Amino acid sequence: MSQFQFAQTLAVKVDVCTHAGMRDGVPALMRLFDDLGVRASFFVSLGPDHSGRAIRRIFRPGFLDKMRRTNAVGTYGWRTVLYGTVLPGPQIARSFPQTMRALVRDGHEVGMHGYDHVYWQDQLPKLSATAVRAELDRARDTFTEILGAPPTAFGAPGWQCTPTSFACEDDAGLAYHTDTRGVAPFLPEMDGRRFRTMDIPTTLPTLDEAYAREGTTPAELTAFYLRQLRPGLNVYTAHAEMEGIRQLPHLRDFLNAVKGHVTFLRLIDVAGRLATAPVARVVPGPIAGRAGTVAWQEAANG
Ligand SMILES: [Zn+2]
Repeated sequence: MSQFQFAQTLAVKVDVCTHAGMRDGVPALMRLFDDLGVRASFFVSLGPDHSGRAIRRIFRPGFLDKMRRTNAVGTYGWRTVLYGTVLPGPQIARSFPQTMRALVRDGHEVGMHGYDHVYWQDQLPKLSATAVRAELDRARDTFTEILGAPPTAFGAPGWQCTPTSFACEDDAGLAYHTDTRGVAPFLPEMDGRRFRTMDIPTTLPTLDEAYAREGTTPAELTAFYLRQLRPGLNVYTAHAEMEGIRQLPHLRDFLNAVKGHVTFLRLIDVAGRLATAPVARVVPGPIAGRAGTVAWQEAANG
């Protein structure tokens, strides 16, 4: 165990998975965080928005339920639902380099959320090490071109991991990654292989998992999230497409409710405070409110 003990801490991670999320969600979230004095960790998909290709998940159990509960078309808009199918996928980060740089200027952390989000999320188990490395290289090169310095963190799209992806991330020389769902920072072991880059898991359910299952109003959702907070480190993953647009009132309500009771840290600050972390196995498992499986820190999903 690491010697460092977190008092009640909340790290706010924002996944930016789509062009609309980058265009509309990120600026709105920056204003909210500025009002509240919160520094967050933004994980941006650095390649094209191929959200429309997620339609292939339609035959997976749970996908249509999630689409309906979260009003996916209302949340993402029709264009996003068609990107990468009948419409070409626009570039997410390259279309908004000024927003990328504004994030850094405002003191937020920026990390990689893959290159082609849908490709990683849906194809990862089938990809060779060469293909995974190519995705990481494209993400890193785009990031470095826009921000002038290489990235230090990766957040796996859709919380999808394999031994191959962990090995490629080890080779990328990251300070940490945030690829899994779990309870506390750890060193991953998967299929009998150990990896050296620390993972900082998302500890709280995401809003698209909780929405309509735990409530729909900001008051109901905030009450739910307050019940989920634990002593020590909590990691909340927001989506720029959701909490940055229609669900902004929820995030504002929740952050106002916890302000003064928790310390806000960026994930890079969490990683910097930990010299090491215990080893834990990573196993794929289902998660309530989401189709398919995600990577779990073992014993965290009981
Ligand atoms: Zn994502």
